[in-house]
Amino acid sequence: MTKTFQDLGRILDKINGKGYPAYKELQGQYQENHFTLSIDYVQGDPFASPSRIRVIVPGDKGGFPKDIYRTPYQRKAVVDFLSRTVAKNIYRFYDRVKGSGKSGLLTIGHCGQEILERNYIVINPNRVEARLEVGLPAAGRRILGNEAKEIFLDALPKIVEASLFWASISQENLYAQVKLAEDQHFLREELKKRKLAAFIANGSILPRESGISERPLLKGAVPFQSPKEYEIELRLPNYGPIKGMGIPEGVTLIVGGGFHGKSTLLKALELGIYDHIAGDGREYLVTRENAVKIKAENGRKVEKVNISSFINNLPMGQDTVRFSTENASGSTSQAANIIEALEVGAELLLIDEDTSATNFMIRDSRMQRLVQKEKEPITPFIDKVRTLYKEKGVSTILVIGGSGDYFEVADHVIMMDEYTPKDVTQKAKEIIKIMDNQRKFEGVLPIRENSPRILLKSTFPQDKRGVKIKPRGIHTITYNKTEIDLSHLEQLIDPNQTNAICFIIHFIMEKVVNDKLTLPQVVEKVYGEISSKGLDIVSPYQGHPGNMALPRKHEIAAVLNRFRLLKIK
Ligand code: ADP
Ligand code: MG
Repeated sequence: MTKTFQDLGRILDKINGKGYPAYKELQGQYQENHFTLSIDYVQGDPFASPSRIRVIVPGDKGGFPKDIYRTPYQRKAVVDFLSRTVAKNIYRFYDRVKGSGKSGLLTIGHCGQEILERNYIVINPNRVEARLEVGLPAAGRRILGNEAKEIFLDALPKIVEASLFWASISQENLYAQVKLAEDQHFLREELKKRKLAAFIANGSILPRESGISERPLLKGAVPFQSPKEYEIELRLPNYGPIKGMGIPEGVTLIVGGGFHGKSTLLKALELGIYDHIAGDGREYLVTRENAVKIKAENGRKVEKVNISSFINNLPMGQDTVRFSTENASGSTSQAANIIEALEVGAELLLIDEDTSATNFMIRDSRMQRLVQKEKEPITPFIDKVRTLYKEKGVSTILVIGGSGDYFEVADHVIMMDEYTPKDVTQKAKEIIKIMDNQRKFEGVLPIRENSPRILLKSTFPQDKRGVKIKPRGIHTITYNKTEIDLSHLEQLIDPNQTNAICFIIHFIMEKVVNDKLTLPQVVEKVYGEISSKGLDIVSPYQGHPGNMALPRKHEIAAVLNRFRLLKIK
């Protein structure tokens, strides 16, 4: 028999003042007039991870028209919109009740500036469901039943009423978000058709409020304005005609004086793989979805990666065709990052001199004269960047403030001048003609990619208590006692992407890895499952599956590649 909200009230009265474990009795479903509350998981104590609940409105009562979530990108926009609506209404209708630890917490998964595929809301013709987390209130370990009643019987119905019914939400804003999603989808398709690496609409706001905020800089931001040479006009299905800068495929340099906005532009391109919310300033800035930021990452682990295109003849005869190390240098890590990115299908590399290894990027003529090629294991990126495009179709956009040698290998040179891009390609070509350069080309060999790297089951050892894979913030995952450092993955931007990756690793370990599939095949396989069945399938939990946001294949592979226990056949 389904219980009612009155039953819920009675249970809370009964267990009021008792020890925390009595909360376990709450588990189950409760019927309200317009919705069902499902208490799926009850935390063990007030300091533990919060309890997980769902509120479910039947489709006919919710009244959402089906045509707003026909396509995957529309659905993504609707889920995002409703998640934000629930968050707003929690803020509006609920004052956190007091208590120890996580007592009184009431949240839906966090949404930042990006619109990601998330699982906080389920919407289909049968139901609208929101997944929330609650810190069941207690003083010390004593249950605060009245405070719990405030959450469940007072605040929750108001929040549901205001958020999960078509008649009560702002339909105008929802339609606007769906239309924006359509335009963004169109832009992404257009990039491929027109062979562009990225598009940045005129008027975009690139700088952020501060180094620790992703919100747009509002005061004093110089809006983006395309140089004439690159300006194109596109006709978006909803917004209509829009002008901006199309950055072509190939090799593009971003030059300019220090503090003129080079890194800000590159950062915006890195995050252009994601859609942004209205008002962000980057809503009409899109980058090819498989663009990967490449950095030097001293100290990272590398497992059997073919870095021989860049590094050869290491001291002590170390192998660079299947290069492994527990402690990569700046240049070896940057080389490994490139080859691993190609392995998962990157078609655009984004590189900033600020975060690169100098000896990986450049070797000038004087240095070539002093240290002979035979004595230098590194073939610098400058001698590979064209081959990457010619042979592999992989474009590069790189910020270079310090080395004019790169003019020779660039298709396009863009100068940031007081935050506004100018085309200086012709000037750069003239300089090449006037000032001769003694530099010798060192990159005669083709790009060599990884031979198949078979992911071994032994990557995932279990101890007596099994395996615990846990996120800590965005940039750390722990696998039992082994830490995975993700601080260099700048395109991993949401803690719930990291949470999803924890579940994905578990899923790979249990269901996918078989000593036959390669690392990219494993990633491809999970990704395919998620695309056809949804994010929830990687969760081991019943009911509320835990908050997740979809990471890209690149970030999943990047996490595995940084896992210190990774074993490749
Ligand atoms: P660079 O890499 O060329 O040295 P940065 O991109 O780091 O320069 O930018 C330097 C500073 O200028 C940063 O504080 C950044 O927020 C700010 N900035 C960048 N672009 C703009 C802009 N369009 N309008 C206003 N300020 C900007
Ligand atoms: Mg910079």
